[in-house]
Amino acid sequence: TGSLYLVPTPIGNLDDMTIRSINILKDVDLIAAEDTRNTQKLLNHFDITTKQISFHEHNTEQRAPELIEKLRAGTSIAQVSDAGMPSISDPGRELVQQCVENDIPVISVPGPNAGLTSLIASGLKPQPFLFYGFLKRKPKEQVDELEILAQAYPTLIFYEAPHRLKKTLINMQKVFGNRQATLARELTKKFEEYVRGGIDDLVDWSKENEIRGEFVILIAGNPNGFKIMKPDENKAQLSVEEQID
Ligand code: SAM
Repeated sequence: TGSLYLVPTPIGNLDDMTIRSINILKDVDLIAAEDTRNTQKLLNHFDITTKQISFHEHNTEQRAPELIEKLRAGTSIAQVSDAGMPSISDPGRELVQQCVENDIPVISVPGPNAGLTSLIASGLKPQPFLFYGFLKRKPKEQVDELEILAQAYPTLIFYEAPHRLKKTLINMQKVFGNRQATLARELTKKFEEYVRGGIDDLVDWSKENEIRGEFVILIAGNPNGFKIMKPDENKAQLSVEEQID
């Protein structure tokens, strides 16, 4: 059998493509890409001539079994999304699951990811964290989701589209109050920027600025919230934190 390689791609800065990722994309038989035209630009930049096949959320059901057949026949495949890590708010999970079911090796290659990159620069507690990705779009459903998340102890990480950013921040302000938060914008790009403060500051920023580019929203967890640990581990966690804070 062939192997499935999960290859992260840059989230803005092409220099973030690792040597290993380039070599894997050169060496595999086939690249399964979310958007083959978008990925072709990356391949051209690094002189990679490997053939592509499209693999996105709308053809996963039919394409995943085809890719599994190829893998079983010995084809090596790299899966890439448009930016960052495959499967993280991007296509990939079903293919990995089917590889696992079929005993096909899955090799995850480290690289760019917007959530973790912004988390470690946010100034918020890096662990525990809860990566949520995109919230629901309908306001009522979004507020319901946020109300549940408001009970959680971990630092929260969200992705949001620019045209929905202001509304989402206002909903967060309603549900979380003025918790500590960070807005990470245009990571790895020319206009990279972090807005740190309370959620009020982030809302003000979104009202005062033209909202352009890509954003990660990070929110401090609820210190009295649900810790998703056994009670005795809760205690241990608290005393460690008391020492740090
Ligand atoms: N797979 C990607 C990853 O590993 O981070 C995420 C893909 S998801 C479809 C796209 C979202 O990720 C954007 O809407 C934004 O919230 C976030 N994102 C991606 N690139 C970013 C960047 N350069 N700066 C800030 N946020 C980014």
